Amino acid sequence: MEFSSKLLENAVYEISQLPGIGKRTALRLVLHLLKQPEERTQHLSNALMKLKSEVNFCKSCHNISDTELCEICANPKRDESLVCVVEDIRDVMAIENTSQYNGLYHVLGGKISPMEGVGPQDLNITSLVDRVREGTVKELIFALSSTMEGDTTNFYIYRQLEGMEITTSTIARGISVGDELEYADEVTLGRSILNRVPFESSMKAN
Ligand SMILES: [Zn+2]
Repeated sequence: MEFSSKLLENAVYEISQLPGIGKRTALRLVLHLLKQPEERTQHLSNALMKLKSEVNFCKSCHNISDTELCEICANPKRDESLVCVVEDIRDVMAIENTSQYNGLYHVLGGKISPMEGVGPQDLNITSLVDRVREGTVKELIFALSSTMEGDTTNFYIYRQLEGMEITTSTIARGISVGDELEYADEVTLGRSILNRVPFESSMKAN
């Protein structure tokens, strides 16, 4: 792509570094911003800078939060004996949208993936095992996407919990293999949490 301006080229380059955005889309966005009043760009860059410098993660579940404990963990009406294990905060948002779940969450921050160089130590697994060890949690619901990485991660965590008094279940496979949770519709996702099955039986089914 030939640019008539170095400034334009730099802006397009930076935006095209975002996932899912190619050079062409980046150019369209940059030209759009250029047409807007200057405050638009200022608000956008301020919001991003503030997000990056001030963002907090809940010290219990690792959800993104403006406070030490996120709103879900701090809510006394939530059932703290129930913890749903998810890959990232988009899954928390998807499950919250179903209004079918009243427990807490644990955000792993990814899935075990040897291909991408992600090992158990890169994820929030130790803090999950510690949470279970404290004894308040009675049931863990695995809600990772049903991919090979998701299954590997479930099984790794399951093994870490051996000997502890905890029920493990997995969301019902209304979510078809390979689907990402965030793309599941709310009814399907809500139902699959209500109809969860014991983790052991889900392993036998595979
Ligand atoms: Zn939290």
